Amino acid sequence: MNHYDAARYRMVKDQLVARGISDERVLDAMRKVPRHLFVEEALREQAYGDHALPIGEDQTISQPYMVACMTEALGLRGDEKVLEIGTGSGYQTAVLAELASRVVTIERIVGFIPKVWKILEELNYRHVVIHLSDGTYGWKDESPFDAIMVTAGAPDIPSSLTDQLKVGGRLVIPVGNRMDQVLKKVEKASDGLAITTLTPCVFVPLIGALGWKEEGEERMI
Ligand code: SAH
Repeated sequence: MNHYDAARYRMVKDQLVARGISDERVLDAMRKVPRHLFVEEALREQAYGDHALPIGEDQTISQPYMVACMTEALGLRGDEKVLEIGTGSGYQTAVLAELASRVVTIERIVGFIPKVWKILEELNYRHVVIHLSDGTYGWKDESPFDAIMVTAGAPDIPSSLTDQLKVGGRLVIPVGNRMDQVLKKVEKASDGLAITTLTPCVFVPLIGALGWKEEGEERMI
């Protein structure tokens, strides 16, 4: 066991189990995925700390506890098709890839995509596809999905996403203002949506047609 492995096991015990994350599949996935490889080299020693970290382009890799919390809320059992919006570093994508049979992930910043593609290939996650797009529209071609996760803060729950959810499916999404949000879980039943609030959270904004406008966009028009 190298010191990264030791730090990762400690992260799972002290940050996740201690705070009530109990889905063994989620805990196993987070014991396995080498989070330090998803941040730049200078930040690797901090990769297992109890916080988010910068990944460039003003974006962040989410805090481990938030990744665990959102993943656990999806209740994945292994045979699901999952949509993720906001690929970023690709760390959450890899955790989802450990737990589902297909992962479709969408990112709007082109610079992240080659890095994520390379690392997911190195780690042998062949059942993941990455698209450069505005994820607020979802990904109709592969819908409906068993589960959808949005890893950026939205002003509202986009109807495009609930439309692309299977009956019995689950969506997790931070909803609030540009600075802070609450994590919402949406469960789709044949007769409508059940929405519950899980925890306060802080995510970078979801930018897009059914999200926030780009900073300064109004002034540019
Ligand atoms: N899960 C990622 C989180 C990255 S931060 C990780 O842990 O690394 C959120 C990401 O959402 C950023 O990369 C940002 O560019 C992306 N994003 C924001 N709005 C988006 C949109 N409409 N479609 C796709 N990606 C979006």
